[in-house]
Amino acid sequence: MPAPSPAKIGLVSLGCPKALVDSERILTRLRAEGYALSRDYAGADVVVVNTCGFLDSARDESLGAIGEALAENGKVIVTGCLGAEADLIRARHPDVLAVTGPHQYEAVVDAVHQVAPPPHDPFVDLVPPEGLRLTPRHYAYLKISEGCNNTCSFCIIPQLRGRLQSRPLPQVLTEAEKLAAAGVKELLVISQDTSAYGVDLKHAATEWRGATLRTHFVDLCTVLSQLGIWVRLHYVYPYPHVDDVVPLMANDRLLPYLDIPFQHASPTVLKAMRRPANQEKMLERLRRWRALCPDLTVRSTFIVGFPGETDADFETLLAWLDEAQLERVGCFKYEPVDGAAANALPGTVPDDVKEQRWHRFMRAQRTISAARLKRRKGRTLSVLIDTVDGQGRAVGRSAADAPEIDGKVHIADAHGVKPGDLIKARIHDTDAYDLHGTPWPPRRPTLTRRPGGRR
Ligand code: SF4
Repeated sequence: MPAPSPAKIGLVSLGCPKALVDSERILTRLRAEGYALSRDYAGADVVVVNTCGFLDSARDESLGAIGEALAENGKVIVTGCLGAEADLIRARHPDVLAVTGPHQYEAVVDAVHQVAPPPHDPFVDLVPPEGLRLTPRHYAYLKISEGCNNTCSFCIIPQLRGRLQSRPLPQVLTEAEKLAAAGVKELLVISQDTSAYGVDLKHAATEWRGATLRTHFVDLCTVLSQLGIWVRLHYVYPYPHVDDVVPLMANDRLLPYLDIPFQHASPTVLKAMRRPANQEKMLERLRRWRALCPDLTVRSTFIVGFPGETDADFETLLAWLDEAQLERVGCFKYEPVDGAAANALPGTVPDDVKEQRWHRFMRAQRTISAARLKRRKGRTLSVLIDTVDGQGRAVGRSAADAPEIDGKVHIADAHGVKPGDLIKARIHDTDAYDLHGTPWPPRRPTLTRRPGGRR
């Protein structure tokens, strides 16, 4: 008798890369138990919706996605950040089968078991050793911890995801090795607070390949830098020990890239945000880092229109930005988040003022970005190819560009190039955010020769 076909799981993944990693873990676990995956609502026995609940717009999107899954399929399990607000979800969508919070993998899997029992004999060998991933084959996110011990007044992540919980170092390194062995060319290290890695474990000593290592950001980066693939650091809080990884970047062992969300530059606003408030010192550190590692790209995000932000505070921010000359910058207009301490602060900034400040900020940064990119004209850079259109045009990223959030390198005459290739490209032109170039040395198109014919 043929074996019954396994139950099929649909998954809708919303939110940030950290949520994406949660989705990958859930899928990996379910696939390991023998479940099949469905690409559409109709074919799924149950749909898991992994939600984001950080901003009001993200909550609306999540509630909309739950509604869509209910309408299309009817059997829906909700998880992720918005899952921390089960009452809200059940009030809007009483028919959801279960609601679980962020990184509650066991609870999600249990809820799936209730709706669609697992096959008796799981084909564990169907699961690749590196797990299942939702990113392209050539890059992967490596989540090193959950939660955060900081108390930024605009943020409810610590309420949603709890205090810092670092994954054990051998577990993180084993996952990184498996990903590299599976052909991943770029690892994106993520968490809520990457440079705090190991604080909760008191930087416990641990054995790894015959060496004793600390569960610490610097030791983690040192071992990752030996994998021989691109390693990019995201969400780095500027603790003093971040200085210690810049030499690894200068020596081409880690990508010369630091994603540090500075959020503002005015001491008054930073204090109200409960963030480190010495941006003068930060400028000095940036100068030192760049002297040591001239190719360093610093990426950051800022918030304009935070409660109490005056014209003078905003001018301080623009002046700091001009001094800092950061390569990659994103900017958000302040949006109150339900449950955040900042909601109680006086001095709400009117929407039209927020809007004007945002435009001025973006114009200023556009000029900086264009000037920084111009310095790359004429250089030959390593580029990791993301897409190819079949007509010799490829789009990739240099060391300065993280996927989804930064600029791109547009490559013409990229004959024979495939996604995941790491090639050299000569940069001929630059604009405000992107680079334009051709492979170096140049590639010739592959010409087909018919037997006995002329090319
Ligand atoms: S460091 Fe990031 S995650 Fe932690 S409280 Fe601040 S903004 Fe939130």
